[in-house]
Amino acid sequence: VKIRLLGTAAGGGFPQWNCACPNCDGVRRGTIRARPRREFCAAVSGNDRDWFLINAPPDVRAQLESFAVLTAREAVRSTPVAGVLLTSADLDNVLGLLTLREGPALAVHATAGIRQALQTGLSLSVLLEEYAGASWHEPPTSLSPLRSRDGAASGLEYEAFFVDRHPPRYLGSRGAEACGDRVGYVISDSATKSRLVVLPGCSAFDAGLRDRIVGCDLLLLDGTFWSEDELQQQAPGARTAGEMGHLPVGGPGGSLSLIQSLKGRRTIYVHVNNTNPMLNEDSPEHAAVCAAGAEVGYDGLDIAL
Ligand SMILES: [Zn+2]
Repeated sequence: VKIRLLGTAAGGGFPQWNCACPNCDGVRRGTIRARPRREFCAAVSGNDRDWFLINAPPDVRAQLESFAVLTAREAVRSTPVAGVLLTSADLDNVLGLLTLREGPALAVHATAGIRQALQTGLSLSVLLEEYAGASWHEPPTSLSPLRSRDGAASGLEYEAFFVDRHPPRYLGSRGAEACGDRVGYVISDSATKSRLVVLPGCSAFDAGLRDRIVGCDLLLLDGTFWSEDELQQQAPGARTAGEMGHLPVGGPGGSLSLIQSLKGRRTIYVHVNNTNPMLNEDSPEHAAVCAAGAEVGYDGLDIAL
């Protein structure tokens, strides 16, 4: 499996256009050691030909252009992107589908709950039909072949696993009855059986999640917030990490301490919010991640499993 991290920030990117927090201000001015980041998206391939995107963030066009193997080559209108696997219906994860509408026809892998949220809130499947069209695929719940657009084997198998209910904000009060799952993915190389777990959003570690993590070679993990009240420290009245559905990285119950008890795999934090102090490479929080044997993901990082 080959993996390219195209974007590693949470919604808003880093720096965020309307933010002057110490991180955003510092990275703009060059006064802190930190790398700008686009919104979370990873590209995965098992055969160097078909590439699958995990999510489609708003700046997906620039992300695709940042990685030459994802640019069009075979025909005037073509793409090596064989499909998009959605982890939730949040705008940060799906607005790029509007860019990809230009075609060829999209293959979107999304649970029924995510698809329902996209249809109820954004009329997305109806909209895409007026452009290049989209085929919608319910991801399997046990490892099954991930097929390229023409139905051929891609060298990868995949499964989705339920993380929690996560109706997107745009559904408003309709979110109560409408769905909106949040899922993670296991992606496995059909030949080598090496295994990747993608978990850009999670609010807790339950037993099922632990089992999946224990068996994997690489974990791309929710690094949104360092602490529960991180946003409130910057913007009074903001929601807590828990209220936004994210388990913090730091602290006694944080994900960094939890993964240390599950040794054996490479762990890279992704979906990092611009307020997270671990983005500053000279911060004690960044040092704590490194000391624990984990990594803070950055755009352009390539991994081969
Ligand atoms: Zn900021």
